[in-house]
Amino acid sequence: MNCIMCKSKLDKSRVNHIVDKMGRIVIIKNVPANVCGQCGEYYVDNDTAMRLEEIIQELLTNKAEILVVNYNELVA
Ligand SMILES: [Zn+2]
Repeated sequence: MNCIMCKSKLDKSRVNHIVDKMGRIVIIKNVPANVCGQCGEYYVDNDTAMRLEEIIQELLTNKAEILVVNYNELVA
């Protein structure tokens, strides 16, 4: 699999996934992803994407405007 943006090779790594939901920021650290060495774009697999969506929905029940969590601690 290559980067959709620049066609470079992807490497397995971990990223900080940052989501802006209507002005509220959710930062999920240490998310496993395939990362482009050229442009920094990253791609998570379907399972991880589903987990992220669940995590984000749950976090948004909290009223804080900025939420920071660690993926490793949430997915044991
Ligand atoms: Zn790229």
